Amino acid sequence: MEVVRKDIKNLHLGVYPPEGRVRVAVPLRLDDETVRLAVVSRLGWIRKQQRRFEEQERQSAREMVTGETHFFLGRRYRLDVVEHDGPASVRLRGNTIMELRVRPGSDPEKRRAALHGWYRRRLKERIPGLIEAWEPVIGVDVADWRIRRMRTRWGSCTIEARRIWLNLELAKKPPACLEYILVHEMVHLLERRHNDRFRELMDRFMPRWRLHRDDLNRAPLAHGDWGY
Ligand SMILES: [Zn+2]
Repeated sequence: MEVVRKDIKNLHLGVYPPEGRVRVAVPLRLDDETVRLAVVSRLGWIRKQQRRFEEQERQSAREMVTGETHFFLGRRYRLDVVEHDGPASVRLRGNTIMELRVRPGSDPEKRRAALHGWYRRRLKERIPGLIEAWEPVIGVDVADWRIRRMRTRWGSCTIEARRIWLNLELAKKPPACLEYILVHEMVHLLERRHNDRFRELMDRFMPRWRLHRDDLNRAPLAHGDWGY
């Protein structure tokens, strides 16, 4: 377990993939024994997170073959791999089938790349409209946004550049999750830290934000953040 002492108000406990490493950020005033007790009292939660990462490892070892389950916008789809002699593409057939067309003999990596490319394009379509809608509400101006794959976070914000980073995984989650992460990162342009002011701003702009947060924390990428 890694313990980091910081000038913060609350203890933050995080469990990180791939192997479930535990990291605790601790206010300077807390002594070792208090930290130990705080961690012990959350052992059940820590183990649960670690089991999730194990599951996730198994999931990401998927072969990208017909019959696997993949998610889009919070819905579950059954993958149907169709070999054809042309560029790779993805389309949804009804509410249950995700059809992945690939060249004959394509390996799992190529298939995965095709699906990720599709997720990225779908996510990209949704972001500008959301930012435009939220900028006047929150009273901030986002200079730039980007999508990337992140192992431990759903989003982040480079405050100086007013740039927001969003996790590609959000493409798989219910629509409200992207909106929540976006609002969260935009609120960081008003308040850098997860403090009372930050929570007050979230309550004002998105009163149901805790529901969305809990939704995301139930997902495999969950990272525990006890401070907010
Ligand atoms: Zn944040």
